[in-house]
Amino acid sequence: MSYSGTVVVGGGVIGLSIAVRLAADRSVTLLDPAPARGASWVAGGMLAPVTESWPGEEDLLELGCASLARWPEFAADLGVELRTDGTAVAALDAADAAQLDILADHLATLGRAVDRLTGRELRKREPAVGPSVRSGLMVPGDLAVDNRELLRGLVSAAARAGVTFDRRCAQVVEPGSVRLAGGEVIRCGTTVIAAGAWSGGLHPALDQLVRPVKGEILRLRARPGVLPLTHTVRALVESRPVYLVPRKGDELVLGATQYEAGFDTEVTAGGVHRLLDDAERVVPGIAEYGLTETAAGLRAGSRDNLPLVGPLEPGVLVAAGHHRNGLLLAPITAAAVRAMIAGEDPPAEVLAADPARHVPTRR
Ligand SMILES: Cc1cc2nc3c(=O)[nH]c(=O)nc-3n(C[C@H](O)[C@H](O)[C@H](O)COP(=O)(O)OP(=O)(O)OC[C@H]3O[C@@H](n4cnc5c(N)ncnc54)[C@H](O)[C@@H]3O)c2cc1C
Repeated sequence: MSYSGTVVVGGGVIGLSIAVRLAADRSVTLLDPAPARGASWVAGGMLAPVTESWPGEEDLLELGCASLARWPEFAADLGVELRTDGTAVAALDAADAAQLDILADHLATLGRAVDRLTGRELRKREPAVGPSVRSGLMVPGDLAVDNRELLRGLVSAAARAGVTFDRRCAQVVEPGSVRLAGGEVIRCGTTVIAAGAWSGGLHPALDQLVRPVKGEILRLRARPGVLPLTHTVRALVESRPVYLVPRKGDELVLGATQYEAGFDTEVTAGGVHRLLDDAERVVPGIAEYGLTETAAGLRAGSRDNLPLVGPLEPGVLVAAGHHRNGLLLAPITAAAVRAMIAGEDPPAEVLAADPARHVPTRR
């Protein structure tokens, strides 16, 4: 069997975004036994490069900010709404407050000053935050998206653009072909490996570069009478990160744990307990919410937290390893892959994500 154009392996937010971009000027097949699921279905939906940043990860901050700038147009093209209220960041104990100071100092040195607030000042801006919060920050530029609405928008856009969905599972990607589980070989032009945490098994160069990082997350429903959140709230609770992302309507997403647990996607009682306990210390009203869903997903971890976006060998590209930021980085990743395949320069911020920083590649 053969496909004349490009085959994208993996139909999470990254593969779908790439397929939609590529389909504007070439024929595209998307290979995935379960498209629009994976980590992308589970995720929190924060588009938050600034509150994710940390000293030493300046390239990731630049990449994230460049992608954030593309989000309003990306969302409008897909007919997907964005939340623009920004993020309230909260610290519980003295060590948590010290961590927020490090983040605020770091951002100031990069010229990205944020508002430092006392606990009382933070509560004025976000009344759902409780009295145990010691200090905080307000980050106005962050956005948030309903990841499931986004995936529905991408699947519709891909179908409209003529992308062929092939629900088979890839096993190995080689120049000019993809071997399927079961042994059949598909001949094709270019292949893009975009299979998230599973990408490491699809090409020998990715074997040690992409690993699964488990994350548990909860979905809650505001019951009548509870005080709704007006911003995304991120917090450190005795050094453990927790976040709450309000959705349109009454949904609230509460995440997320982070473990190195291989391909395990079972939700544990301990994970749910920890998330609810930490969230309640930040937003006491959370105990009155209904619990509607628990889920676990696999982030695609990389060695340096930057994704891998670029050629591996002639006719084979990778777009994986987006770790905690795959939704945020989808627009710039798709633009970069389109440019690389068209022989154009990708956005400059993507050069830091070249897989050649870790493994020899052939162009
Ligand atoms: C709990 C949690 C919360 C998160 N919150 C956020 C957030 O707030 N903001 C943010 O930006 N990011 C967040 N992330 C990270 C984000 O979800 C990921 O970075 C992003 O979804 C990665 O997208 P992807 O398309 O690379 O992978 P995935 O969404 O995992 O998709 C991979 C796809 O590849 C397919 N596939 C696998 N193997 C094969 C194969 N052999 N052949 C064909 N297809 C295959 C799978 O079926 C799947 O559809 C979160 C992740 C988790 C787990």
